[in-house]
Amino acid sequence: MTTILTVVGARPQFIKAAAVSRAIRARDSMSEIMVHTGQHFDANMSDVFFDELEIAPPAHHLGIGGGGHGRMTGRMLEGIEGILEAGRPDWVLIYGDTNSTIAGALAAAKLHIPVAHVEAGLRSFNKRMPEEINRILTDHVSTLLFCPTQTAVDNLASEGITAGVHHVGDVMYDATLDAREKARETSDIVARLQLEPGKYVLSTVHRAENTDSRDALGAVLDHLKAKAAEVPVVLPLHPRTAGAVKKHGLDFDGLTVIDPVGYLDMAALLDGCAEVLTDSGGVQKEAYFHRKPCTTLRDETEWVETIEAGWNRLWKGADFVSPRKDIADYGDGKSAERILDLIASAG
Ligand code: UDP
Repeated sequence: MTTILTVVGARPQFIKAAAVSRAIRARDSMSEIMVHTGQHFDANMSDVFFDELEIAPPAHHLGIGGGGHGRMTGRMLEGIEGILEAGRPDWVLIYGDTNSTIAGALAAAKLHIPVAHVEAGLRSFNKRMPEEINRILTDHVSTLLFCPTQTAVDNLASEGITAGVHHVGDVMYDATLDAREKARETSDIVARLQLEPGKYVLSTVHRAENTDSRDALGAVLDHLKAKAAEVPVVLPLHPRTAGAVKKHGLDFDGLTVIDPVGYLDMAALLDGCAEVLTDSGGVQKEAYFHRKPCTTLRDETEWVETIEAGWNRLWKGADFVSPRKDIADYGDGKSAERILDLIASAG
């Protein structure tokens, strides 16, 4: 029996972990221990995903939300180390690029427990992003590096990492395929918000680079408000952005602001929208999975394939590349199975 200890803490990790957890449950030879760091703790940023996506309830909840990066990561490191020492798993499985990711990776690596990193090799080449620091450090202590794209494989090679690197596709595509079907059967959010399918824009904003300064956030909001003068702009509001707007004395006038939504409602909003405006990594790709044009509210993106294929563009950059193409890199919706096969064969 291979025991996998999964560390999650933030919204995008619940979604990615859901796809892999489901696949683990289907294998008799594997078992999973779920650790939730508590980085995201509101019901609509955390519990809703465990309920809706049927993720196993966490065996350990560290309750570490808030605080600065160092304090938060340090407390997680201590908490995870204690759990790993108490019952040594065969693998520690981590996702993406948050403080929970780096804490899980470091705690395991120091105890010589192999680390499997899902979404390895992404780079923005902007070290002012906390996510970029987390990614680089995590990749350098990981044993198995599961890359969603060939670009990610190449990024790792250029940092000298080639052992244990596998291009497996994107687990978020697995998650999207599952959610889209369910959402079509169950979600009525588009009607509830009195939106017309194909006649609204979906937006999300939460990156520190867009929320930390009044100028940056004001510019993003002005961009959204200009759009809202033409067509409704729906903004499921991330708690960080809610706090920043209040702190900076800004407003959402003209925007359709709603609380963060669950994954099925999000899939329904993506499925029904005309276009997407976002600074989220996950939502950029989901826009493509739903074949919606996306404008990324950042100065660079890790998901360069979406730009090259004409589905995405940077808001201050050039227009969409044309003609639009499909992207083979993200796989066929079976990335989770590939990941588990590779963990199983690594022993
Ligand atoms: N998401 C969601 N509800 C929302 C907003 C986003 O379910 O109200 C999902 C979204 O579909 C994507 C993930 O959360 O799968 C993205 O998370 P986030 O933007 O917080 O992080 P990032 O992808 O930038 O790391």
